Amino acid sequence: MRIYNTLTKKVEDFIPHEKNKVTMYTCGPTVYYYAHIGNLRTYISEDILEKGLKYIGYDVKRCMNITDVGHLAGDSDTGEDKMAAAAQKEKKSVLDIAKFYTDAFFEDMEKLNIKKPEIISPATQNIPKYIEMIEKLLEKGYAYIAGGNVYFDTSKFPDYYKLSGRNKDELLEAVRQDVEVDNNKKNPFDFGLWFTNSKFNNQELKWESPWGVGYPGWHIECSAIALTNLGEYLDIHCGGVDNTFPHHTNEIAQSESYLGHKWCSYWIHMEFLNDKSGKMSKSKGTSKDLRSLISKGYDPIVYRFFCLQSHYRKTLVYSLEGLDTATNAYNKLKRKIKEIKNNKEGEIDNTKVKEYQEKFKNAFENDMNTSTMLTTLYDVIKDDINNNTKLYLIEDFDSVLSLDLLKEPQINAKLKKHIEEKIEERNKAKQNKDYETADKIRDELLKENIIIKDTKEGTTFELIK
Ligand code: AMP
Ligand code: ZN
Repeated sequence: MRIYNTLTKKVEDFIPHEKNKVTMYTCGPTVYYYAHIGNLRTYISEDILEKGLKYIGYDVKRCMNITDVGHLAGDSDTGEDKMAAAAQKEKKSVLDIAKFYTDAFFEDMEKLNIKKPEIISPATQNIPKYIEMIEKLLEKGYAYIAGGNVYFDTSKFPDYYKLSGRNKDELLEAVRQDVEVDNNKKNPFDFGLWFTNSKFNNQELKWESPWGVGYPGWHIECSAIALTNLGEYLDIHCGGVDNTFPHHTNEIAQSESYLGHKWCSYWIHMEFLNDKSGKMSKSKGTSKDLRSLISKGYDPIVYRFFCLQSHYRKTLVYSLEGLDTATNAYNKLKRKIKEIKNNKEGEIDNTKVKEYQEKFKNAFENDMNTSTMLTTLYDVIKDDINNNTKLYLIEDFDSVLSLDLLKEPQINAKLKKHIEEKIEERNKAKQNKDYETADKIRDELLKENIIIKDTKEGTTFELIK
C-alpha cells in the first residue's frame, strides 16, 4: 500500500507498527447539528480506507471520538462552545443535543453504508484520562497554568510546525482572522488543555479537576481517546484537511510530549467538498445535510458513488447537476448488473477473478484511487467473461465500495401506490399533450430509481434499487 502522508508530504509505502495489524483513529463529528455532506465525504473516504485495508489483508482496529464538549467556534480556543451555543438556541440540555445529533449521525452513516468504527467514544466519557495526561504534561514542563486555565506551551515542542509544513510566520498569517486574543497564552499557538476560569460561566458540563471545576480543551480529547483505545503507537490518523492545523498539530504536540516518543506514523487528510460558492461550513450556514438531499429525491448511495468518482485528495465541487449525472450513471450501472443477474451462467473463472482482484487491489494501494477502483468494476462488467464470474467480482468489490450493487429493490404497498399515482398523473399530462410535465414526472421517478416503460399493454415500471 502506498499512501500520501501529510507528515512527510510524500506518497509513501505503508508499514504499520505491528505486522499485518493497523490501528486507525478518525476524528469524529462535533454533534451540535447534523453532519453536512462535506463532513460525510470525509467519513466515506475513511470508510473506504478501513474496508480497503481489510480487503488487502490487514486486521484493522479503528476508533472514532464524538465531540460533545470543548469544541469552540474558532479552532484556536476562540468564540463560543459549539455545543453550549446549540443547546441555548434549541432550548435543550447539552447532553440532549449531543444525543440527538449523535443518533442522527449514525443514521446518516447507515444510509451511506459507512461501517461504524468498532470503538466510538464520546469526549465527555474520558475525563480521567485528560486529567492524567494534563498532570503529566505539567510535571514534564510542557504545560503551564495561567488565569486559572491549563495551556500547552508550544515553545517547548520544537517539532510543532512539522505537520502543517508551515513556519510560525506563515501560520500566524493563516490565523490572522482570529481577532480574539487570550492574554493568558505565552505564545500565539499555545492551546487550552483544561479551562476553569474562562469566559463560559454558563458552561453546563463541568468536572472536578486538580485545577478546579472546568472542562477539557478540544484537542486533548482525540489524543486521550486514541491513546486509551489504540495504544502508544498509532498507525493512521485521519480527518479533513482543515484538521491539519491546529487540531492535529496540537494532538501531535501533546501526545508526543506526554509519551516521550513519536506517536502516529501516517497522517491522512481528506480534501474538502465545496459548493460553487466555496467551502461548506456548518457554522456559516452554507451547508447541506443528507436529509435535504433525500428530501429532494436523491439516493444517499448515489452521493457515496458521486464521492468515490473523485480522489480523496482533490477538492470535489458539489452541485445538483453533478448529483443528477451521478444518479444517471449509477442507475445505468445497476441496470447492467441487473441484466447480468437475470442471466446467470458459467463456472467461476478463477484466473480472471485473481487478475481483476489484483487490479482492484492495485488501485486501492495506489493512494486509495477510488475512481480507478470503479473503472475496474466497469472493466469487469464490459469484459467477455461469464456472468457468474462477473457477479462474484461485483460482490467482492462491493465489500469495499459498499454501493449496494447487488441489492434487490424493495417494493412495498406505499411505494407501489406512489408510483401508480405518478404514472396516472403522467398519462393525464400526455393526454393533454403536456409533454414537458410528462417528461418531468418520468425524470423524477428515475431519480427515485424507478424506470417507467410505455408498452402496448400500458405503462409498466421497474425498480433499480
Ligand atoms: P466537525 O464536525 O466540524 O468536527 O468535522 C467533522 C469532520 O469533517 C472533520 O474531519 C473535518 O475535517 C471534516 N470536514 C469539515 N468540513 C468539511 C468539508 N467541507 N468537506 C470535507 N470534510 C470536511
Ligand atoms: Zn480530533
